Order: sequence, then structure tokens, then C-alpha cells
Amino acid sequence: MKVLWNGSIMDRSESKVDIEDRGYQFGDGVYEVIRIYNGEMFAQKEHIDRLFNSANEIGIELAFEKKDLEQQFNELIQENQVSEGGIYFQISRGVAPRKHQYKKDIQPQTVGYTFSLKKPEEEQTNGVAAITAQDMRWLRCDIKSLNLLYNVMTKQKASEQGAFEAVLIRDGYVTEGTSSNIFAVKDGEVYTHPVNHLILNGITRRELLNIFENEHIPFEEKAITEEELGSVDELFMASTTAEVIPIITLDGKDVGSGKPGNVTRKVQEAFQKRIVPANIVKQ
Ligand SMILES: *Cc1c(COP(=O)(O)O)cnc(C)c1O
Repeated sequence: MKVLWNGSIMDRSESKVDIEDRGYQFGDGVYEVIRIYNGEMFAQKEHIDRLFNSANEIGIELAFEKKDLEQQFNELIQENQVSEGGIYFQISRGVAPRKHQYKKDIQPQTVGYTFSLKKPEEEQTNGVAAITAQDMRWLRCDIKSLNLLYNVMTKQKASEQGAFEAVLIRDGYVTEGTSSNIFAVKDGEVYTHPVNHLILNGITRRELLNIFENEHIPFEEKAITEEELGSVDELFMASTTAEVIPIITLDGKDVGSGKPGNVTRKVQEAFQKRIVPANIVKQ
């Protein structure tokens, strides 16, 4: 398998990460995951923009341009012959003797690779279980940081309880999932947390807001309370790898009817239509 390492495409065995890489020691860096459908990236511009924003927010200056990165991603996809999958790309602040503070001239280190991935069809069709958990992350959740310790701990807790995701709650309000955005449906209207420092503004989330508008599905960017969560009609999660997955039980109790709801189905269908045209054009 070929990888992208500091701007060059090479065999994975040729790339090496330094033991004093700050990404490795401090989680000092940012990342992106981009979906590949039929050999083509989906919403790559949005992902690359967000990557540059995340890097900028933590004070990493990049010596390459967005269009060059996109070009390299395309080369990597070609090299690895990925049809259905994704790209993982991360930027760490750089390599230096381990001290919390850093010098400004440190060179950012970048790593990118592709992976194969099938649509989580079973989950999308039948829905999944979720648990609720307190959102104890830091207050800059808008940055797609490598530091995912609390997300990891909480997803693991969900997994050990047979659940697919954890719905995070901060100060009594639903924020998002550990690696997805959360949407609730009540009386035909969709609610999701507004964009601020408490959530990661998902690219899938943005696609869905656009779908709600096009499909005339009423929606509001408004956080619902933990109490309201107990009486919603439908609940679903959205992310690059999950796409749109219904959440049918929460902490062991049925959400609404305990089956994927009509609004969720409509959103899933519209989302599939968005990713299909690329496939048709290619064939
Ligand atoms: C990446 C991520 C998401 C989903 O974003 P997409 O761009 O849709 O993949 C949601 N929440 C968190 C915490 C994330 O890290």
C-alpha cells in the first residue's frame, strides 16, 4: 500500500514517524477523513477547507496549498486503486524534544493513507442502539483535533454495552456523538445542535441541512434537552463513514416506535441520491 508522507507518495514501509513527533506524544495536531465513492472523493473541498481551518485554529502554518493536497489525494487513490473507501489524513505540529511549548520554526508532519470501507448497510437499514453519556470534552470541539481521548473512552463504553454510538450531553443539552452529529425529530421537525465551539461541524451535517431545505423538511439548529431526548419521535446520527444511521434505542429504551422513522428514511434516501451521480457519470 502506498501512503502520503510529508508530501511524497511512497510505500508504507518507507514512511516513518519519529518517536518525538508531537502528534504521537501530545495529540498535537489535526486530521480529516474523506469518503471515496466509486474511486472519487466526496465533498473533498469542504474537508480540505476544514482541515486548513483546524490547522489554523491551533497555529499550524502549512507550506502547501489546498489544490496540491487535493491533487495528491487523487494520485494516492489511483495508486491504491480504491473504489469504495476513504482517506485518512493528519497533520502534526512536528518533531521536537518533548516540551509542552514549541518553537515557531517547527516543521509540520503529514501522513495520509487510503482504506477500503463498505457502507454500514445493516446499521443503516435496521438502526442501532446508543447510550447517553456526559460530554466531558474540552471546549474547542469545533477543531478536528487528534486528541480524541474522551471520544475514545466513551465510544468504547458504548461498544462494551453493545451500542454503536454515545449521545453526548453537556449541561443538560445534547451536543453530538463521539464521532458523529446527532439529529432528533419531534412532530415532523428536525433539531440539531447549532454550530459553535461545542460541536464539530460535520460535512455530512452540512449536506443534511441542505437536504432538509431542498426536501422541505422543517428543521431548527437548536439543541434539545436531555429531558426532551426521552420523548423524541426519531433520532439519527450522521458522519462521513456512517452516512445516516437511525438510532432506535437509547439506554435500552425504544426511541419513538423503536423502528427507523419516516423522516430518517427520507433523509437517508436523499443522501444516497447525492452520492450516486458521481457513480453514474463514471460508468
Ligand atoms: C468528524 C466528526 C464528526 C462528523 O463529521 P463529518 O465531516 O460528517 O464526518 C462529528 N463529530 C465529531 C466529534 C467528529 O470528530
